[in-house]
Amino acid sequence: MTTETRDIIVVGGGTAGCFAAATAAQNGLDVALLERKSEDDAGHIACGDAIKGKSTFPDVIDRDHLRAESFTNENIRRALFVNPKGDNIDVPFQDDSGAVVDRKRYGEVLLEEADRVGADVQYNTVVKDVVQNGKVNGVEGIYDGDYIEYQADVVIDAAGALSILQDKTDFEGTSYDTNVTYDQFCSAYREVIETKEPVEYDDAIVFKPTEELGYLWYFPRTETEINAGLGFQMNKPPIPLVDVLKRDLEERPEFEEATVKDKLGAALPTRRPYDSAVAPGFMSVGDAAGHVNPTTGGGIPGAAKAGHWAAEVAVEAIADGDVGERALWEYNQRVQTDFGKKFAAMDLYNIFGSAHETDELTDIVTALPGQMLIDIMGKKGETSLSLPGKIKAAVTTVINTRGHWGTLREANKVSNLASDIKEIYADYPSSQDEFDGWQNRRDALMDDVYEITGADPKY
Ligand SMILES: Cc1cc2nc3c(=O)[nH]c(=O)nc-3n(C[C@H](O)[C@H](O)[C@H](O)COP(=O)(O)OP(=O)(O)OC[C@H]3O[C@@H](n4cnc5c(N)ncnc54)[C@H](O)[C@@H]3O)c2cc1C
Repeated sequence: MTTETRDIIVVGGGTAGCFAAATAAQNGLDVALLERKSEDDAGHIACGDAIKGKSTFPDVIDRDHLRAESFTNENIRRALFVNPKGDNIDVPFQDDSGAVVDRKRYGEVLLEEADRVGADVQYNTVVKDVVQNGKVNGVEGIYDGDYIEYQADVVIDAAGALSILQDKTDFEGTSYDTNVTYDQFCSAYREVIETKEPVEYDDAIVFKPTEELGYLWYFPRTETEINAGLGFQMNKPPIPLVDVLKRDLEERPEFEEATVKDKLGAALPTRRPYDSAVAPGFMSVGDAAGHVNPTTGGGIPGAAKAGHWAAEVAVEAIADGDVGERALWEYNQRVQTDFGKKFAAMDLYNIFGSAHETDELTDIVTALPGQMLIDIMGKKGETSLSLPGKIKAAVTTVINTRGHWGTLREANKVSNLASDIKEIYADYPSSQDEFDGWQNRRDALMDDVYEITGADPKY
């Protein structure tokens, strides 16, 4: 077995891994990025290809180049929620419009950029094990049939959902979050489809509810190339994703005579971010640390930021000669007080949803005036209701939602708790010493959520 020694080893060449490797290399460190796929296949990832918050990508790669090469539709201005039982809901985006990308090219450019700024990108390298002795000291991988040991001060785990590194690492005595089970994940599948005629919604990302707390999506990469897919939460009985998608597409006229260009499925975390994603010499980023919005499944911006922050903190820790948990802790705090608090709040809606039938939730959505739903979702709509409009809407709502008032009251309580949990996450401790106290405070709020919703505890 050969041995290679680096400052940092990054496992996984997705969004999180590329941003981590590029950041470390930009800071002058010797970093290798290990990716199991071949150079031709790398970047081919099951995804809806939609990016919200694209302007927040860390500035360690050439973002203009990334955009020019892979952002095929930058004209996304709204989210359209298809309501099978009533009026559709249109939610216009405010400042930052979204984009849909050619995901393969996007992934390739990130890898090329990591390489350009100095990371050593090694393809066809499958990581099989972790090397540890009190701390994580490296990983073991196979390249072309040969075992290679990679030694490093810090290993960054960017190996995606259900990362093998977490099965192999002994986290005993660390704060690393091991309260992770498969039912906190979603199983998802998507096809990239070429339509004969341009679709009408080339400025929108479109969602439609399915059974089992899932949704279908149609995201236009261009006006004739649509990423269509669906997923279900794995605490529900499985649904035949391929068949359900096929049936749905057959009913939609825009997909008549369309051709399928690509098909792929994967699991993604639909849970709150890991409470702690660091252990001595070890950090997890992106899907490997639950950095995905648990209601929309959007994980690209979080993965980019997390990869960048983890590498920044690792660079500093290596310079100080201490890569212990305390030295890496700042990374946890950066995540939790930024997008972590939002995702933890969204997780409460995911839990609320899992305790109700999709049918009932659709009935409620149908009964509420569109403007009121937009307000509930915390978005500013295109128009605001006038006073007479408000009174009319209130009266209509009271009549139409009869039979669902208990659920609406529950939704309101969950919404209040979602605000409270954001404050708790904003107070995420800067030191590991206060971690237990912080967790107790957060868990007390979660007890209230389970009591109000009747949902089975998710954690
Ligand atoms: C069907 C689907 C649709 C989605 N839609 C959207 C969307 O529209 N918008 C959005 O923002 N997010 C979406 N997401 C989520 C988003 O794709 C992920 O959150 C994001 O890709 C996470 O990036 P990552 O770098 O953490 O992981 P990944 O992109 O999964 O990268 C992990 C990498 O690690 C490599 N790897 C794994 N194991 C090993 C190993 N043992 N050795 C070496 N390499 C290894 C893999 O080959 C892969 O390249 C979707 C996810 C799915 C499954």
